[in-house]
Amino acid sequence: QVKGVTQRVHSPDQSRNDPLEDDVQAFLIDEDQLHTFDDLTKVNPVTPATVLKCLQARYSLKVFYTHAGCTLVALNPFQAIPDLYSVDVMKEYHYATQPQEFKPHIFIVAEEAYRNVQGQLEPVNQSLVVSGESGAGKTWTSRCLMKYYATVAASAQAVSSQDAVERIERRVLDSNPLMEAFGNACTLRNNNSSRFGKYIQLQMNRAQLLVGASVQTYLLEKTRVACQPANERNFHIFYQMMKGATDEQRTDWKMPQDQCFVWLPNCENQIEEDGFLETAEAMVHLGIDAERQRQIFRVLAGILQLGNVSFCSSTNESQPCDLDQVSEGTGELLGVPAEELCRCLRVRTLKAGKQNVLKPCSQAECGVRRDCLAKVIYGQLFEWLVTFINSCICADQSKWCNFIGVLDVYGFECFQINNLEQLCINYANEKLQQHFVAHYLRAQQEEYVSEGLEWSFIKYQDNQSCLDLLEGSPISVFSLLNEESRLNRASDSTALRGRLEKELGGNDNICWDKFSKVPHFTVAHYAGKVSYQLEGMVEKNKDPVPPELIGLLEKSDNLLLHEIFSDKETEIPHSKGLSRVTVISKFKNSLENLMKLLLTTAPHYTRCIKPNSDCRPLTFKNREVILQLEACGIVETIHISAAGFPIRCSFPPHTLVVRYFSKDELTPKLLPGVCRCDVSTQSDLSNSSQLDLLEDHRGKILSRCAFTIQCCWLRHQRRRRLARRQSATLIQAAVRSWLVRKQIRRWNGAASVIQNTWKKWRVRTSSLAEAELDEAEDLAADDSPALSAVVRERGSVQLSSFQEPVPVRGWPMGLALASAPSITVSLTATGFQKMISVMTSLNLPSRRGEYKVETNQYKQGLASIRARPRGSVKLHYQRSPLLYADMQPDLKSNVTGFNEILLEKTLRPIQR
Ligand code: ADP
Repeated sequence: QVKGVTQRVHSPDQSRNDPLEDDVQAFLIDEDQLHTFDDLTKVNPVTPATVLKCLQARYSLKVFYTHAGCTLVALNPFQAIPDLYSVDVMKEYHYATQPQEFKPHIFIVAEEAYRNVQGQLEPVNQSLVVSGESGAGKTWTSRCLMKYYATVAASAQAVSSQDAVERIERRVLDSNPLMEAFGNACTLRNNNSSRFGKYIQLQMNRAQLLVGASVQTYLLEKTRVACQPANERNFHIFYQMMKGATDEQRTDWKMPQDQCFVWLPNCENQIEEDGFLETAEAMVHLGIDAERQRQIFRVLAGILQLGNVSFCSSTNESQPCDLDQVSEGTGELLGVPAEELCRCLRVRTLKAGKQNVLKPCSQAECGVRRDCLAKVIYGQLFEWLVTFINSCICADQSKWCNFIGVLDVYGFECFQINNLEQLCINYANEKLQQHFVAHYLRAQQEEYVSEGLEWSFIKYQDNQSCLDLLEGSPISVFSLLNEESRLNRASDSTALRGRLEKELGGNDNICWDKFSKVPHFTVAHYAGKVSYQLEGMVEKNKDPVPPELIGLLEKSDNLLLHEIFSDKETEIPHSKGLSRVTVISKFKNSLENLMKLLLTTAPHYTRCIKPNSDCRPLTFKNREVILQLEACGIVETIHISAAGFPIRCSFPPHTLVVRYFSKDELTPKLLPGVCRCDVSTQSDLSNSSQLDLLEDHRGKILSRCAFTIQCCWLRHQRRRRLARRQSATLIQAAVRSWLVRKQIRRWNGAASVIQNTWKKWRVRTSSLAEAELDEAEDLAADDSPALSAVVRERGSVQLSSFQEPVPVRGWPMGLALASAPSITVSLTATGFQKMISVMTSLNLPSRRGEYKVETNQYKQGLASIRARPRGSVKLHYQRSPLLYADMQPDLKSNVTGFNEILLEKTLRPIQR
């Protein structure tokens, strides 16, 4: 059984004698399955060997991300993996309902943090801590995270905006290449190694859109400007200038093509990061105008020229050293008088009472002063740049309310010779480890206790004692180093070693190699022991800047230098004496601020691992990886994660209970099964599986409830639909019947009107006809007294056989011939009216087939009727009132005169 996290990580060789060996072997036999462990907490047993094998199996299948409980392990592929970081993949993770169910990816961490901000879970602000050794992929990962947020947290308006310069996401992303150009360098371990730590705060507004950012940097390795380790390079920016400058710029910077610079080693190596154009473009995007750029590049060129200045000792000790190599233009580029610069480099000004005493420096001292000048200029220039970037990307405090911080810090370092930088870096890692442990273990355990849960305490490796050794009060390594640095005397490393041993000898975290002649001390860090050499450490801690040099720079003609140094009085020691600000105190301060900030945020850890030191793609070196796993305490992390509750809810305790049990089921004996967590892996697993069972059961009950709710809802809907349909049918039927009744009533009314009219008309016409027939003689005599003379005249027809006009009755119809076998009647009426008139006036029975009615000359409005009358026909004629009735029909005109023709025809038989 694994005894909690106190168990130290063993190397694979050591683990042979481990009692877990059989389990490990049993686990490793199933090789095909090793790559399937997306989360290393599921590996059983958790040992360095099993964890390593799983990571190796995944790496060989090009799976680079693996969860380790609360941490994400990122293996560096050392080659571009197509589509692993595309915008589409970002969107996939961003829009997924459960991104955790996707393959492990840095975007899961990013999305989780983003959702926490959105969900306003306490604490709302988030920190993404990316750690790992140089070349492990921290910068890459931070870049990925920033790109992710620049994509998913960009407003739609900003995305559609054409003006890329104006977009905040663009500016935030542009700050990266600029800072990398000035702060990164090609080292033995990484072509693009960040030589500073940084915490980038991505500021979000209420709508979770990226509205700004700010950068805080830590401990730039400025010694690199003046001193590059063998086979390493200076900061990228110098090489970019050398390779990318135009002829015009070279002239301006006094940097001819063929000139060699001492501080620019390995210039011939061409690396991807040497892109001058990209840096210049980023400067433009961030609003650094051409003049400012010129000032920056002239300062940088001045630094390079300064590197070419060398000294040789003077024969006369009372005289300053001679200049061995004079670099033309250094003074001009830095905007200071050349002679004054030379004097400041070679002559020290000492205060003796109220008088200044000038003392020539030794050759070595001159070199130190030169390097010091370069370092202070570069360091301050870098700080100015960061401040400028911040002023350009930082949103107004009123515009943002939450942030996601990305912390990209140097990993734990242990070289052959370790100095103050490594001490600071390892101290920072120690602090972060403490934060991690505090966050994931101590806080959890305290929380369980405060909630009254049955919990057996896990012993974890608390690095507080190591931190006490380094930073504690009143006596610690830092306090002693600072004390020594503040004394105005040359430091003696052997004496310092003695002092450390005397003051801290009783501390278990510090020791000395009794046989080593080099003054040193060894600190037992959480990730391993590191020996620090004391030689030069105090001097580095002082980071002294000769006040004469600062005074010189204050007067610089280069506006940028002048601006930087005239504002820096407080931090840079002046002639008044040594500053109380040491490198350690400054670093400790900024780190404390960072820790305070981290404590107010929800942390997410990503551990980057470098699978091989040669930066070769897809090469996995067990030994190297295991050392890194040790250094970042990944196995311990897995134990912490697995030993804690697999699922933690931030709700009050009763919520968890209510989640699984109904009121009736709430019996205390059920709870420990859910909540107790033993140290052993086996019980971790059983706890996990119990929780899985409960979740399964809960899921089933929930789905049953959902099903019942769905059934009820569907039934309710169906019933409602049916009732609505019935009501609608009823309403429709009522309306239709009402409409039909109304229509029928109208039709009936109309029919009776028609019938009555028809009947009346028939009665009237038949009575008229009968009256005509019955009273023929009388009518002949009775000469229509009512008619006026004119009408009478016009109503008479002059028949050819009669002398007198014969009044004709029976207009408009009523023509027939009794004697003729057939009669022809011509009428002016047309269509149905004509036919009806004829039939009525002739009193023809309306039977079919007995006679035939034909119309002729229909179009002219004339008709002929042939009929066989039954019995005799009496004809009474009266003059037609029609104006043209007695005229001959004329086919060409529309005037008819049928009466005359008809009468002529019909009267002929009567006469006969
Ligand atoms: P660090 O910042 O930890 O020193 P970097 O982030 O600069 O390391 O990574 C070193 C190199 O490794 C990068 O230049 C890059 O070429 C490569 N690299 C890192 N991570 C990835 C990755 N996820 N995919 C592809 N290449 C990567």
